[in-house]
Amino acid sequence: MSAAVLDIQGLSVSYATEAGPLKALRDVDLEVAEGKIIGIVGESGCGKSTLISAIIRLLAPNAQIVQGVVNFKGSDLLGLSNEQMRALRGDEISMVFQDPMTSLNPTLTIGRQMSDVQHRSSANRSEKNARSVMMLERVGIPDPKTQLKRYPHHLSGGMRQRVAIAMALMAEPSLLIADEPTTALDATLEVQIIHRLKDLQREFGCSILFISHHLGVIAELCDEVLVMYAGEVVESGCLREVFKEPKHPYTRMLLECDPARIKEPTRELPVIEGSLPNLVNLPDGCIFRERCSFAVARCGVERPVLHGDGHRAACHLLDHLQETSP
Ligand code: SF4
Repeated sequence: MSAAVLDIQGLSVSYATEAGPLKALRDVDLEVAEGKIIGIVGESGCGKSTLISAIIRLLAPNAQIVQGVVNFKGSDLLGLSNEQMRALRGDEISMVFQDPMTSLNPTLTIGRQMSDVQHRSSANRSEKNARSVMMLERVGIPDPKTQLKRYPHHLSGGMRQRVAIAMALMAEPSLLIADEPTTALDATLEVQIIHRLKDLQREFGCSILFISHHLGVIAELCDEVLVMYAGEVVESGCLREVFKEPKHPYTRMLLECDPARIKEPTRELPVIEGSLPNLVNLPDGCIFRERCSFAVARCGVERPVLHGDGHRAACHLLDHLQETSP
């Protein structure tokens, strides 16, 4: 088993609201091993973005880390000074966002921005330019020397995302966090970016934490997957096992709603009925109970914890559900 680059234990994050603390993340455990790609899936509001913001310590001002440890290569990130965190971000931990325009400066050329990313390097200007060209080639940008002179708005969305990935990998980080990086792209570009990212991950050997609500992308790219619901991890394990033999009712429903898995032509896509629970006044028992067709009396009073070895799920009826596996 490879060493863990990122090891999160018992992380809970709340937001202060007028109605009281909104418990956005509760008791989240997550391990990202060296050289592995871990996917996080779940509906909007499941806590994916809060989790990332907590890792890189860029939470909203009204957020509070209630408890937990975020261990990155042996250091608890929650105990580092702001200066130490700034040094880690970009060097050891890089980010790729859904919209590259949020990470690229529209007023500077691509070349200038790629050079700025290398601010800690002692290389001279032409060496930095050469490295920028090499990185643009790696991510499949045609005529990279010309692109260095262009501004972000001159490039297509797919090209901008490739530039963002090139910049994120320039420092050869140990961990790349990709937050819905292909959501804004069309399907063909999405596939191209995913394959490129996989090649680059092999080449650079970094670990990737990949957040997406697109199950097909997760299936294509990831080694392991974490399924989140309303701020809790409800299932985790090796991708093949979780996607082929989902244990938790929520994971099952999520997979059933994936348009790629629907065999018969239909005008209506399946949805998971109901809505997320109120995270200010959490219900007793299982967080998924209101939407679960398997719920029994115990589910309303006792919170299920993750069970299993490797492939884990938080449900009281795991043995029963295994027998009714789809
Ligand atoms: Fe459904 Fe109960 Fe399992 Fe929760 S614990 S997922 S309500 S069966």
